[in-house]
Amino acid sequence: MKRDTRLVMLLLLVIGCSLTSLTIWKVLSSRERALAEVDVHGLNLTQALTTYTEGIVRQSSLLLLGLVERLETEGSGPAQIERISTLIGRQQPLMPQLSGITVYDHHGHWLMSSNRPIPVGANSSDRAYFIHHRDDPSREPFIGPPIQSRTNHEWVVTISRRFNDASGNFAGVVAVTLGVENFLRVFGKLDVGQDGAIGLSYTDGTLLVRYPFREQDMGRNFSKSPIYAKYLVDQPVGTAAYTSSLDGVERLYAFRKSETLPLITTVALGKREALAAWRIEAALSAVVVAGLLGLTGVIGWFLILDIRRRTAAEEALHVAQQQLLDSNRQLALLAKKDALTGLANRRCFDETLALEARRAQRDGTSLALLMIDIDYFKRFNDACGHVAGDACLQAVSTLLEGCVQRPSDLVARYGGEEIAIIMPATDIEGATVVAERILARLQQANIPHSGSPFGRVSVSIGIATGTGSRLEPVSGLIEAADAALYGAKAAGRNGFSRQPMDIASGG
Ligand code: GH3
Ligand code: MG
Ligand code: MG
Repeated sequence: MKRDTRLVMLLLLVIGCSLTSLTIWKVLSSRERALAEVDVHGLNLTQALTTYTEGIVRQSSLLLLGLVERLETEGSGPAQIERISTLIGRQQPLMPQLSGITVYDHHGHWLMSSNRPIPVGANSSDRAYFIHHRDDPSREPFIGPPIQSRTNHEWVVTISRRFNDASGNFAGVVAVTLGVENFLRVFGKLDVGQDGAIGLSYTDGTLLVRYPFREQDMGRNFSKSPIYAKYLVDQPVGTAAYTSSLDGVERLYAFRKSETLPLITTVALGKREALAAWRIEAALSAVVVAGLLGLTGVIGWFLILDIRRRTAAEEALHVAQQQLLDSNRQLALLAKKDALTGLANRRCFDETLALEARRAQRDGTSLALLMIDIDYFKRFNDACGHVAGDACLQAVSTLLEGCVQRPSDLVARYGGEEIAIIMPATDIEGATVVAERILARLQQANIPHSGSPFGRVSVSIGIATGTGSRLEPVSGLIEAADAALYGAKAAGRNGFSRQPMDIASGG
């Protein structure tokens, strides 16, 4: 029973462990997949945004190149500036992302601005892009840090070029301003969730644009953040996950360095948001598996209860069977015993005699039968009463049982106060020895019997033996023993008479 229960428990344990580990493995791998998808999504977005930014910068650079060419060939006198202004007026609507175009002389004074009117005494010699071009003879365009426009106070990013005079000296700067608002409009169309962010920064870590817009971040340097300090050092494109030092939100970052410009595009998605769908799926899986485990447990528990119930019933049945077998054995014993004397009863005597007669015939051995009758027993009853008579009969029975030695010998109550002894493989001599022993022991026992001439209880014994076909039928042996008993009685009692069926002789 314990083995069955243990097997069921083992089975439940195996099912439970397998189901749990499979679910954990599935949930973890789907989490990995979800994170990988977020990375791919982020990288795709950085690619699109980088291409977009590069396009704007390239367009602006080309526009500036044309203006620089004109200013250098035609000069920057009022008439030329007027013509350029008209040209810009026609070009600007074609490039909606441009907030304005401004031309500065070599002192930083505004010569022209697409955002009229020019503020009185406006001077931009303090701006980073002006200082850069004044001090650096390079003709390459310069992307400046975000600044607040002096005309409309909007946040803008500048792209500028230097123009020279005929002798190759610094003559001024042409700058295009790109409204941060325009970038935010484009970035805002991309779904990066509530915790997401899109950033465009200079390779030195200076933030140019951030969506969602935060005034305090404009122009801030993020070169200490992990993206710049750790990841961008080795790889121009990649992904990373870390908790923002600005708002404490854990994000999944995808970053890409432009191949042509000193710009970096970053797309960040909130990890919690990115894993929201996965979390729901994982919770559902957990609920379903927990339900299944619970169900398996309940079924298993019922199974164990059933096994226990069945085993208890089997044990009870086994006990009942044993009791029945014991009862049957006792009944069988009782069926063979005589109630008063405890000796084998008449039925047992008949069966045993028939059995031993067949065996004796088969083996060619001699079978001996002693018929014993208590002398003057009627008188004993008359004198002492039937209860004392019964006690005497019991005492004689016990004594007779003590007189036989072999296990195969059987002492049985033949009827009334007649007792028979079956002795297999015993010849007339052996049987005589037993008869003499009985008489001697009775004499020793000396049970008083006032009605007997011997003054004590005595018996008469008829001895008969037979071999082979003489034992067929076995009643012949009984008759012979009876006849011998009769002979013993006739001879005066308290003695034996022999009646061998092979050789006729008297006792
Ligand atoms: P004998 O054998 O010497 O010729 O005389 P007897 O008086 O013993 O005569 P018999 O064997 O014919 O008598 C049998 C008597 O044994 C009859 C009955 O009173 C008594 N008897 C038989 N069975 C029982 C018994 O179970 N209990 C008692 N108390 N007496 C019994
Ligand atoms: Mg008798
Ligand atoms: Mg008698």
